[in-house]
Amino acid sequence: MAAELGASVALRDLEKRYDRVAAVAGVSLEVRAGEFLTLLGPSGSGKTTTLMMIAGFEVPSAGDIAIDGQSVVAMPPYRRNIGMVFQNYALFPHLTVAENIGFPLRQRGVPKDERARLVGEALELVHLPGYGSRYPRQLSGGQQQRVALARAIVFKPRLLLMDEPLGALDKQLRENLQLEMRRLHADLGITFIYVTHDQEEALTMSDRIAVMNDGLVAQVGAPEDLYDRPSDRFVASFIGESNFLPAVVRGLEDGVVIAECQGAMIRAVCPGRPATGDKVMLTTRPERLRFADGRHSQAADNRLSVTVAEAVFAGERCRYMLRAGDGTLVVLKEPSSAAVRRRAVGERVEIAWSVADTILV
Ligand code: ADP
Ligand code: MG
Repeated sequence: MAAELGASVALRDLEKRYDRVAAVAGVSLEVRAGEFLTLLGPSGSGKTTTLMMIAGFEVPSAGDIAIDGQSVVAMPPYRRNIGMVFQNYALFPHLTVAENIGFPLRQRGVPKDERARLVGEALELVHLPGYGSRYPRQLSGGQQQRVALARAIVFKPRLLLMDEPLGALDKQLRENLQLEMRRLHADLGITFIYVTHDQEEALTMSDRIAVMNDGLVAQVGAPEDLYDRPSDRFVASFIGESNFLPAVVRGLEDGVVIAECQGAMIRAVCPGRPATGDKVMLTTRPERLRFADGRHSQAADNRLSVTVAEAVFAGERCRYMLRAGDGTLVVLKEPSSAAVRRRAVGERVEIAWSVADTILV
């Protein structure tokens, strides 16, 4: 079998403590060879610390890091042969673009001709051919970040770590570079571990996402899994928009939980096995809710009576704020259409949604 281009990375019960603070509190994660995995979480959740331990710039307080099945905890950073890109580009201002990109090759003693060839190749990969003789100050922010990327991949690492590399760029440029990163990942076939606090960026780019909160991994999965099947309230609220309805478990039927919510019986899917009487939350996505008198409702749907509290026309869709019996607010998003009657504030309506789109958390 041909050797994989990308390295696999296994984190086992990884911890980093500063005095009493646990920046990383016990992370276990298997990153597959060649995958694009994103660590996603709010500021302070331990993403950078995790990445720094993989790179070797921070020493774990406990646990293990294995690359391709071999523990690297005792190995110095340069021997791990990992590419890294940070938010602040960290280019050498007094070196040209070509010298910046060639720097890791010099460190490795690559001869001059070979160096020039590899630098040219890396510049092509990041779409900057012909920029080799410029200085960093002569480049835009996006171009500088591409140079940083070229420098991180020029020595053909099997693992690339990136810490909020697009954080300093404006929205348009960020979106372009997100697509380029995906293309680069496909072209290189190496493993990417990418850090961001931006859920949209994570959903767009990643094969899988590990959601971090308080130094721990809350859930790992493909973007669709996290969006459709959040395992807890934190993941449901951090990724996308979610409604939360308080409910009490009344029973279980064919793997579906039946919960009492606002006087109605609501059916929900649930990863665990809650007990009758448990107080829980039901979560649903605003775009999965519909008005029950509309075209698409099914007999098996969940239903709830609400009052329209707010109606906002936002071009491609209408966004309704609906009030349930106990005052809980529910958001419903409907694609706009001139053929669909818009609901007025104060109107009593029934909403419907699929059991599959109702998650107990
Ligand atoms: P993130 O990258 O997700 O924003 P970090 O890994 O940078 O999070 O930090 C996680 C937590 O550890 C934060 O509460 C941070 O303040 C703390 N922390 C990080 N580095 C240090 C340090 N050198 N000394 C003390 N606390 C630190
Ligand atoms: Mg960070």
